Amino acid sequence: MTAADRAAFGRCLDRLYATWGKPTPTERILAAAWEALEDFDLDTIETSAKALIVAGGKFLPSTSDLRDECRVQRKAAHAAYAPTTMGEGVCETCEGLGQVETRQEWYAAAPPGKPARQMLRRYWAPCGQCARGRRLGDNRQRGTHETTARPQRQRGAA
Ligand SMILES: [Zn+2]
Repeated sequence: MTAADRAAFGRCLDRLYATWGKPTPTERILAAAWEALEDFDLDTIETSAKALIVAGGKFLPSTSDLRDECRVQRKAAHAAYAPTTMGEGVCETCEGLGQVETRQEWYAAAPPGKPARQMLRRYWAPCGQCARGRRLGDNRQRGTHETTARPQRQRGAA
């Protein structure tokens, strides 16, 4: 999620709380839930919350329950996508992402005019266990990695 998803995320959590008859989650609860789920996209979180509501367990699902469900939903989404586009099943190692997280690092960010805060930086490497990972790795070596490639500036005579 990005900061723009904050309000929708709050509404999503509120629906979950309302289903189990709980009051609207406080800012503290929202902030903690955000920390725990930030790395998923809003769509996955909303789908997962809905799945938990439909499943209708006895107790209000914890953030950790929601996180587990997000993993299930993300895997299902990739499974629906991967076989047609890659001609193979979903890779167990990277869950179809083609890359695996290798390291996390907290760093102090100091945006101008705003208080300094700790931010989490994630490092990713191409997955070595699937065709998509190998393709990402090849692209990275050739400097044509899809997320880092920049338009080449023309130099000299064309
Ligand atoms: Zn893989």
